[in-house]
Amino acid sequence: MSALTSAILIHGADDLRVGEVETLDPGPGEVSVRVTRGGISTADLALYKNGLSKDLRQKQALIPGSEIAGTVIAIGSGVNRVQPGDRVAVNPLQTCGYCLHCRAGRSLHCSERRFFGSNERSLPTQGGFRQTLTCTESQAVPTGQDTPADRAAFAASFAQALHAVRRSGTIAGQRVYISGCGPVGLMTILAARHAGAREIIAGDLTSKPLQLALRLGADSVINVSTETDALKSLQSNQGMADLAFETAGTSVETAMALSFTRPGGRIIHMAPSGETALPLDLMIAKEIECVGAFHFDDEFEWAVDLLAKRAVDVAPLLGAAMPFRNARAAFDLAGDRAEATKVQLVFE
Ligand SMILES: [Zn+2]
Repeated sequence: MSALTSAILIHGADDLRVGEVETLDPGPGEVSVRVTRGGISTADLALYKNGLSKDLRQKQALIPGSEIAGTVIAIGSGVNRVQPGDRVAVNPLQTCGYCLHCRAGRSLHCSERRFFGSNERSLPTQGGFRQTLTCTESQAVPTGQDTPADRAAFAASFAQALHAVRRSGTIAGQRVYISGCGPVGLMTILAARHAGAREIIAGDLTSKPLQLALRLGADSVINVSTETDALKSLQSNQGMADLAFETAGTSVETAMALSFTRPGGRIIHMAPSGETALPLDLMIAKEIECVGAFHFDDEFEWAVDLLAKRAVDVAPLLGAAMPFRNARAAFDLAGDRAEATKVQLVFE
């Protein structure tokens, strides 16, 4: 059985519309979820700005959305983790469980991986910005009935930050620089603080995100476009930060993060950008380790658990909640870097 449900559809660059799509009843091992909240991610914004890949463009529109919270409305046979009425956060990552990487405990790199709202490896996966969706039982992670959907919808972005912190190695007791204070950088401040960073310094090109960084736990902030004295101070002794998390994805900010990192330190790159140059000479001369951090693995369930326990306060991050039928305005607001705000869509 199938029915129609409203969804946000991206047809091409700057071409976003609300339309109707088919939604299927849950099959064996599957769960149907009534979506209540969806956070707009950096990847959603890139899709909106750049449109679909050439292969996909001719075939179908893509539903964005990977930061999804909702309520279970139906379950297929064999499902016992959740019941109708349960509140869940939906893990946007689906893996096969049997490929080389899954069996080695690296399911993030599953050869058959699918991620909501993306067309990785030319395999389009419809996302969660729709009134109802069907996913596997393992993707529907119970949040407990006391966790509001606006909080639960942060699970994927917090999981990404937890994964990056894990990729940083030992963070407890370290001085950390966060490059870029968009939603990803701000989430990383929360995760770094939770993991025991000794000192967190956050940098951005504009001032408003820096105020938010202070509210979320940064010890100090630097406007890297104007505060030259603070910049020089962080560059002294060949760099004063033990670890840097680069979330801005620009060549200028990447070079700056490298200059702030001490010899033998580590930079965790979280912002995929084909246009970003990495100053290899400086990296080699300072023997800095550069590691990538992409999405998350089992950190999703960890993130749900921490959010449900209120171990971190994500409330200051939520800048606006807007009806999904106003998706275009919501995407425009979320894409305003000077606002650095997380915008959620309301699907009720
Ligand atoms: Zn796999």
